Amino acid sequence: MFDSLSDRLGGVFDRLRGRGALTEADVRTAMREVRVALLEADVALPVARSFVDKATEAAIGQDVLRSVTPGQQVVKIVHDTLVDMLGPDTAELDIAVTPPAVVMLVGLQGSGKTTTTAKLAKLLSGRERKKVLMASLDVNRPAAQEQLAVLGQQVEVATLPIVAGQQPVDIARRALQAAKLQGFDVLMLDTAGRLHVDQALMDEMKAVSDIARPNETLLVVDSLTGQDAVNVATSFSEQVPLTGVVLTRMDGDARGGAALSMRAVTGKPIKFAGVGEKLDAIEPFHPKRVAGRILG
Ligand code: GDP
Repeated sequence: MFDSLSDRLGGVFDRLRGRGALTEADVRTAMREVRVALLEADVALPVARSFVDKATEAAIGQDVLRSVTPGQQVVKIVHDTLVDMLGPDTAELDIAVTPPAVVMLVGLQGSGKTTTTAKLAKLLSGRERKKVLMASLDVNRPAAQEQLAVLGQQVEVATLPIVAGQQPVDIARRALQAAKLQGFDVLMLDTAGRLHVDQALMDEMKAVSDIARPNETLLVVDSLTGQDAVNVATSFSEQVPLTGVVLTRMDGDARGGAALSMRAVTGKPIKFAGVGEKLDAIEPFHPKRVAGRILG
């Protein structure tokens, strides 16, 4: 992933690195190229703009240009700005609470919510030996609840028995009760998606959130949807208190723009990256590693 952004920035930096003395104009020219590279990688315009502003200010404001290796210093500043924007460290799930910890996944239909629910459940029940219960609150899409039950069997994680006709808030209530009574450590709630953000979806999400009081509310977004992902993130983060983001389809994302935009738009860390269809194809998101990969 990130090849093309990395290549573009690589070109800019190679030119800078080779230079001795730099002028302010050199920095501005290089930053213009950085901006174009970010936009081509599908980074949202306001995000690319504020990135470039921050990096330019840092490069011109300090004694960078008078230093012995100004080119390298500027490259470092861009790198540091990128790390800062992506978040400095890998973000863990905040589930060290009196059980059951509640993890709610939200997002549009097709973003990979159900798959991610099962992937995270597998991760938690396997590596962390947590007792996990999954429940699907998706009563709109036919067979959504059955889909989660099938995935549950595959990853050997319990799913809440399906009661036909029950509404999301009632399912959430029942799931919470079951998790408490049966001593589950973590309850994962896979919420309903829609094709587009609409108010009914948001109201449902808020109602479920009020009942379930999640410790984690993760927005699942498809990294291949570029600018759309940014719009989705904006809408969701305005209406539900998100705690983090999961970027899916990072296995197919050559541009990496969504990763850069998401944190800036939501103000929340990207916690995981989905990297394939298989149920173990999920990784903690490593901002430093991604920044390093982008800059080459
Ligand atoms: P939902 O409607 O948001 O619940 O989406 P699903 O979980 O049903 O996922 C939709 C499709 O995306 C399925 O075919 C998944 O296998 C696929 N998918 C989910 N996450 C990833 C990922 O990280 N990489 C790839 N390549 N496919 C994924």
